Amino acid sequence: MNIDLIANLAYVISAILFVFGLKMLGSPATARRGNLLSSVGMLIAVVAGLTDGGIISFQWIAIGMVTGAIIGALAARLVAMTSMPEMVALFNGSGGAASLLVGWSTLYDGQIATFTAVTVLLAILIGGVTLTGSLIAWGKLSETINSAALVFSGQRIFNSLLLAALIGSGVMLSLDPAVDSVWLYAVIGLSLLLGVMAVIPIGGADMPVVISLLNSYSGLAACAAGFAINNNILIVAGSLVGASGIILTNIMCKAMNRSLTNVLFSGFGAVKQAAAVEGEVKPITAEDAYYVLEAATNVCFVPGYGMAVAQAQHVVKELGELLEGNGCEVSFAIHPVAGRMPGHMNVLLAEADVPYEQLVEMDDINPRIENVDVAIVIGANDVVNPAAREDEGSPIYGMPIINVDKARTVFVLKRSMASGFSGVDNPLFFGENTRMLFGDAKESISAVISEFG
Ligand code: NDP
Repeated sequence: MNIDLIANLAYVISAILFVFGLKMLGSPATARRGNLLSSVGMLIAVVAGLTDGGIISFQWIAIGMVTGAIIGALAARLVAMTSMPEMVALFNGSGGAASLLVGWSTLYDGQIATFTAVTVLLAILIGGVTLTGSLIAWGKLSETINSAALVFSGQRIFNSLLLAALIGSGVMLSLDPAVDSVWLYAVIGLSLLLGVMAVIPIGGADMPVVISLLNSYSGLAACAAGFAINNNILIVAGSLVGASGIILTNIMCKAMNRSLTNVLFSGFGAVKQAAAVEGEVKPITAEDAYYVLEAATNVCFVPGYGMAVAQAQHVVKELGELLEGNGCEVSFAIHPVAGRMPGHMNVLLAEADVPYEQLVEMDDINPRIENVDVAIVIGANDVVNPAAREDEGSPIYGMPIINVDKARTVFVLKRSMASGFSGVDNPLFFGENTRMLFGDAKESISAVISEFG
């Protein structure tokens, strides 16, 4: 059997592992194994790739692999769970940069066909946009740069001219795909600029959706690069990333009740005026909370970003077990965009070994929330804000929420009256049936647990 055939068979195996791996990522119960399966697929793809006859220097490949492995391992170990979206943004950007370079390097092969030239152009263009777009998204999320939507007069005209120049340069490059062509540098420069221009008018609150979209772009860029260098697994893997990225983007938009066009082309929260929130705040102590919980028969935990900050998942699980031991029915309601990345709460609760059967999705808990004796909101804010349901002037109006305000009693665990990610005030905190348990979520829950002792 010739070596090319073996490599392509290996690619088929990799592709199958990628598909099954992705499928398994769909459930917290199988996600770890799915990740492992996909990693094995990638290992096989890399080893098969090394059999390529066109490889000139193994030395550079080794340097690249070792450097990449060290960065990847350190990033996975050291990056805090709360900074995961920033890390994903940087990884997407690296993917875009890699595709740009692969596309560019193809031009060094000498004479190339027009089809290849077009794929090179796409790899450079989408890769460039992904690189700088991701860097801006990272900057806004980490607040290294101002996270507000940056809008200036003439922006649309500027962007239209930019796009026209990019298309013109792209056509010229496709007609004469040479390494020393001025059109090549024009396409690279304009693509990088387009990435910046596309993301600066979008506010920080929408960055997760942007990152998910850029993830999809990085896949498309890799796919184009795969066509450029005629590598089947790059085409398959790129398509999978492209498709799954766009599906995730769609899920996130739905969870915020916004269209993608609205996310990309409107400054989030820029114009709306929310109703003033006022009323009486009723703080309680851990001891009071204990007496209510001790008598409850149905308790629902609603975790949010604050649980991730407080790392309260383990004590939350412990409290859940104590309540169950007391004959109480316990569930955990998960909002699709609670926290700072899709699946954030699932990951944390899985880390604490909360049984999957106790996890309930927003659409399943809402119809029966009136039967919940106590909804315990742990560091969630926007995802339980009734203004999203009731106040048409609110910037988050229309975003589906978990209707904890309709439970018999609500405990809100947070440190202050501060607003959540969207910066919008929350009338829940002033609700008739709401009690505020102020403090770090982990400390507050530990205090309630000690009352059980
Ligand atoms: P929010 O960001 O709305 O609110 C989190 C709350 O946690 C804050 O009000 C804060 O209040 C509290 N908090 C912070 N630290 C602690 C602590 N140590 N102990 C107790 N409480 C704490 O979180 P949600 O999960 O409700 O909403 C997520 C928001 O993020 C949504 O707006 C969503 O659109 C957005 N988003 C979601 C993404 C996703 O994919 N999941 C990605 C990016 C953004 P205080 O300071 O008073 O303690």
